Formats: sequence, C-alpha cells, structure tokens
Amino acid sequence: MKDQVHIALAGNPNAGKTTLFNFLTGARQHVGNYPGVTVDRKEGKCQHKEQNLSITDLPGTYSLTAYSSEELVARDYIVHENPEVIIAIVDASNLERNLYLTCQFLEMGLPLVLGLNMIDVAKSRGIEIDAPKLSSLLGVPVVPIIARSGKGVEKLLDAALTVAGSSKTSEPLNLSYGDDLDIALQEISATIEENQLLTDRYQARWTGIKILENDEQILEKIDSVNPGLGKILLARTQTVSEHLQKTLEMYPESLIADHRYGYIKSIIRQGVITYGNDTDRLYTSDKIDKVLTHRLLGPVIMGLVLFGLYTFTFGYSEIPVGWMENLFGFLGELAHSTLPDGAFKSMVIAGIIDGAGGVLGFVPIIMFMFFGIAILEDSGYLARVAFMMDRIFRMFGLHGSSVMPFIISGGIAGGCAVPGVMAARTLRSPKERMATLLTVPFMNCGAKLPVIALLIGAFFPSHNALYMFLATLIAWIFALLAAKFLRMTILRGESTPFVMELPPYRFPTAKGIFIHTWERTWQYIKKAGTIILGISIILWAMMTYPGLPDSENQRFDQMRQSIEASFSPETLLEVRSETIESQKAHQLSRELSLIESRQAAATLENSIAGRVGKSLESITRFAGFDWRTNIALIGGFAAKEVIISTLGTAYSLGEVDPDESSSLKSRLRNDANWNPIVALGVLVFIMFYAPCFVTLVCIARETQSWRWAAFSMGFNTVIAFTLAVLLYRAGGAFGII
Ligand code: GDP
Ligand code: MG
Repeated sequence: MKDQVHIALAGNPNAGKTTLFNFLTGARQHVGNYPGVTVDRKEGKCQHKEQNLSITDLPGTYSLTAYSSEELVARDYIVHENPEVIIAIVDASNLERNLYLTCQFLEMGLPLVLGLNMIDVAKSRGIEIDAPKLSSLLGVPVVPIIARSGKGVEKLLDAALTVAGSSKTSEPLNLSYGDDLDIALQEISATIEENQLLTDRYQARWTGIKILENDEQILEKIDSVNPGLGKILLARTQTVSEHLQKTLEMYPESLIADHRYGYIKSIIRQGVITYGNDTDRLYTSDKIDKVLTHRLLGPVIMGLVLFGLYTFTFGYSEIPVGWMENLFGFLGELAHSTLPDGAFKSMVIAGIIDGAGGVLGFVPIIMFMFFGIAILEDSGYLARVAFMMDRIFRMFGLHGSSVMPFIISGGIAGGCAVPGVMAARTLRSPKERMATLLTVPFMNCGAKLPVIALLIGAFFPSHNALYMFLATLIAWIFALLAAKFLRMTILRGESTPFVMELPPYRFPTAKGIFIHTWERTWQYIKKAGTIILGISIILWAMMTYPGLPDSENQRFDQMRQSIEASFSPETLLEVRSETIESQKAHQLSRELSLIESRQAAATLENSIAGRVGKSLESITRFAGFDWRTNIALIGGFAAKEVIISTLGTAYSLGEVDPDESSSLKSRLRNDANWNPIVALGVLVFIMFYAPCFVTLVCIARETQSWRWAAFSMGFNTVIAFTLAVLLYRAGGAFGII
C-alpha cells in the first residue's frame, strides 16, 4: 500500500465529523456545531495498523449543489484532491435526511464508506438500524460507530482501508429522475461526452445533472471553456424546464431532489429501520417543539430568548469591558506621565493605546456573544429561531438566520455591528449572508446612541423617548429595505430553500462551548487586530498633522504667558501643582484650558481631516453640513462615539467670550449653521453612513474581499447623504427653515 492513505470525512452539519476527526487525530479542535467553522480546512494525521493516514474534516453540508460555500468547498475538495476514500458520517437518529448527501456521493461514483454515527442516540430513542442490510442495498460498507467514545472506529478504518486499497472503481449510481429529465439528461450527457466537456474532472452524466440543477459553478466553468456548447446545453435545459413547469409546476432541481428522496425512502422502507417502542415515537424533541415552535407561544418564547441573549451579551460583558477600559486608561496615564511631550507621545497615547484599546474593547462582547450563540446553536434552538423567522425575512430576500445578526447589531437599540457581522456566519447561502452583513451596520449600535441622544436632546427635547423609539424603528425599516434592494440588484438570485433541518435538541457540552468561543474570539484578535491598530494610527495622524505652523503655536504660548503673568506666583503654583483651591486659581485654570482647547481646535482645523472636511463642504452644503460637522463625521469613521468629542473640539473654535462655557448642546442650538432640519439630516446621516472601520475590517474578513468593505462604505454613505439632502431640501421647500 501507499505510504499515506488520504481519507476525507464528509456529512451533514452535526453528524459528528469533527468529533470523529478529533478522536482519530487527537488534535485539539473544537467540538461543537457552529456552521461555517469547518469552512477552514481541518487536516490531521494518524495511524491505523501501521498504515499512515491523512484525514480531512470537510465542512458540513446537506447537499452538493452550489448553494453555499460549504457545499462548494466540500465538492471541490473531493473532485480536486481525490481522496482515496470518503467516510460519509451519517446521524443514525436522523437517517433519512442524512442519506440525501450520501445519495449524491453515490451518484458521483466515489469510493465511499458509511459511518453510521450516534447509534447510542438512536438506540435511546428506540431506533434500531440493520447495518448489513443498508450496506447491501446501498452497495457500500456501513459501519455503526459512536464517535464520542470511539466505539466501532477501528472497524470503520478497516473498511475504509479496504475500499481505498481496492483497485476497482465504483460505478456511479444512476437514478431515474422521471421520463422527461431522463431523456434530456441522456442527450445532454451524450453531447458532453462527444465534446469532452470537463470530462477530465467530472463524469459526463454528473455534469449533465448539474446543468439541469442550474448549478452556477458548473455553468460558469462550461462558459469559460466552451461558451458555444454551453448555450446549446442551456437551451436544451430550458426546454425541459419549461415543459416541467407546464406539466408538473416544478423546476428540474426540485424534481431531481424528489427522486433522490424517493430512492432513499424506498431503501429505508425495506426494513432497514425498526422502531423498538412504537408508542414512544413522539420523541422528546418533538414534544419540546410542540411548545417552542407553537404558533403563538413560539414567537413569545423566542422574543424572550433573544432578549436574554442580547442582555447577556451587552449587559454582562460590561464588567470585563470596564476592566479593559480601566487597563487602557491606566496605560494612557502611564504613557502621559512617563513619555516626553511631543508627536511620539501623542501617537503612543492616541494612536497605539487607544487603538489597541479599541481592538481589545470588543473582545468581551464578542466572547459573550459567541458563548451565547454556541449554547443556542449546539442545543438546536437556533435552528428553530431561524425556522420561525424565515417567512418574514424571506420577504426581504434574507433568511430566518439573519435575525441574530440584526439583533446583535442593534435591533434592540444599543448593539454592535462588529459581533453582528461575525454572527452572520450562521447563514449558509453566500448571497443571503452578504445581504445580511452589508445591512446590519444600519442598526443603531451602542456608539451611535449617545450621538443620537445628543442631537435629539438639543433640538427635540420634548419627545426624547418617542424619537429614540422611532430611530430604532427607522433603522429596521431601512436595513430591511436595503437588503431587499441589494437582493434585487447586485445580489440577485433565488433564495435558498429552507433546507436547514430541525436537529433534535441536545445538551451542549461545556468543553465544546468554551473551546469554540475561544477559537472565534482569538480569530478576531488575530485577524482583525493588526489592521485595526494600523488604521487607528493613520486616523490619529490625519487628525493631528501637519499641525499648526510654529508662529501660531508661539502665539498660543504668548497668550498663555500673558495670562499667567497677570496672576500672582502663588496662584500659578497652585495650578501647576494641581492643588487648585482658591478662586483665582480656578479662574486661571479655566482660562488656560480654554486656550488649550482653542489650540486643539486650531490644530484640528489645520489637520488633514480638517482640510478634507473643509473641501467637502462644497458637497455637504447640499445637506446643510458645515465643515466642522464634516470633521466630526470623518472622526466618526474611527468610532461613532468620537463624533461627540470631535464636534466639541471643532465647535470650541473661535469662541470669543471666555466666560461663556456653554455646553455643546446649546452651542449647536445657537449656531447659525444648525437648525432642527439640519439636525435631523445629520441624525439620519449618522445612522446610515459608512460603518466604523472596525466593522469594515470585519466585513472584509468575513467576505474575504476588501471590495465588499469598500462597497459597504460607499453604498451606505451615498444612501445616507441622499436622505440628508432630501430632508434638507424638503425642509427648505416647506419653509421650515
Ligand atoms: P460536525 O458538525 O459533523 O463536525 O459534528 P460534531 O462533531 O461537532 O458533533 C455534533 C455534536 O454531536 C457534538 O455535541 C458531539 O459531542 C455530538 N456527538 C458526536 N458524535 C456522537 C455520538 O456518537 N454520540 C453522541 N451521543 N453524541 C455525539
Ligand atoms: Mg464540525
């Protein structure tokens, strides 16, 4: 035999692949079932009877179509890497559904062994499976195992090595899909065979089935090697598809699926399964579902659970978030008191320490969220949530699983889009997932809230709570409409059928959840951390450089000196040693800090960000934003809460009366450039414009493309600006301003 036999583990999500993989390779990997986790390729090595094995844990899939990235990854891996044998792990307690994937492996004619997993669970439910019978009906070895304890695994590897070592290739299973499709398929495969279309990789018949199934990846491949032939084949498909819709009101892909299920049913009916205790057929899971997915009670319980998750994520994480803030506050103080004044000090404090604080400040939230989701997911409840929400979200081109990212991002005011974008991993279809993660930043995250509150407080003080509620409602409406828009334009495509099964409820294991939570969190730190730190330094530089000309700085120094000179040396000492007690010292300190804030404002005005803000005024004046507002909005790109402090700095500029220490609220209210309509425009703009860059980095990471991050930035900003301009114009037209 070869010095290494290559085995791939395939199966539905939750069938136990990773459990078996860990048992075999001993790798410290997570046991849990967060969809998407195994999209990373997991490989390991082990030995069986002195034979070296290399084992790959494929992503969990229900099917081998091109509906989701998991399915594509699994399929491409099998086709391109040619594992010598595939072990299909099926959940014995859910045999019928699990065999759907197996059936597709058989249709591909792959070297296959069936690992009949979780027979302990099946047994506890009174299900008995006749493995030898199943094996003879399917024509592949079937070995019962318990992946958790390793029972039966030796036998499974024996069978796998026998298949790998056998020289005869297995014949692909030729199912009938009904007369119409069979005839079309025959013609299509004959044409494929004649033209040697992709036959180096795929069997002609299989390619034919994929064409009939309207498989995007295969269609693209054909288009790239032989577009002319592709047109002919598509035309043939079109004819049969139209015919089927006329006669059966069905598309080819659903008819094919039906016939596969028919094949599986016919096998199972031949006495493969016996139910030990017929009266106990209503399993515990079904009983639980009677309550949890009840038409009226279900949504109520779901609301409570989601609210609980939300409170848990953002409420309890406040404590460790506070520790982080204290830690970085302390580091900032330390740097402040030890480093010599100058650009380096400012960069360390405002760029590095604040940047690192920004990265790590999210860590507790992400950890808590993934912890909560892992419990919901592993127990099987998340699938029920998706199931219940599916009909509503479907109307907007999304999926039931989109609800979680929306809630996390601020569906109940005050979430955060960073974990929200990461929570979109639960979605399997790439387009629905993309639409979800591009629209969750429209929600009102916790950082936008203080800004919204400030503007409402300044301009609409009498209806505080109502406006706050409206802001949440409007965010939902816009996010869903934007999703619908994206799904009708650049993300057009059929919505995936709700193939997610409702897996039986299970008690999640503590170890699985902890390792799993940590893995996700660490990924965030590792993948997003460095970039976030880098951008944070760039943003700091933009708001600092080139700084004021020396003559200006000298002018401020002179102002300081002349003020200090007008006070007595004792007062000066009081202020210097920061033990301010006397009336005079208070006055001096106030005047000095006023100069400081004017210097800061002048520096900001002269900085790159300030110049950009000024030059943008020629555009933003259409919405009534002045350059100070622009600077604050640029600062808001670093983090939305920065908007307030930047507005504060920008608006302290040029203040004449030193005694008037008016609050930012009243300063905005009294400013000639501001009025309720402008405020409303700014408010809407802040709600919908570019996500903060941490979110953008996460979008880029999750979509593996900076183009989508750039798109998100542009798309959101254009929408937000259009809304602000419309509001401003409407306000002008109605004479409100
Ligand atoms: P994957 O999605 O196919 O990788 O599935 P996992 O390996 O993550 O397993 C899903 C869940 O099923 C985990 O909680 C496992 O502990 C559990 N599990 C796996 N195999 C068995 C088994 O043979 N018996 C029982 N009772 N549980 C199992
Ligand atoms: Mg897994």
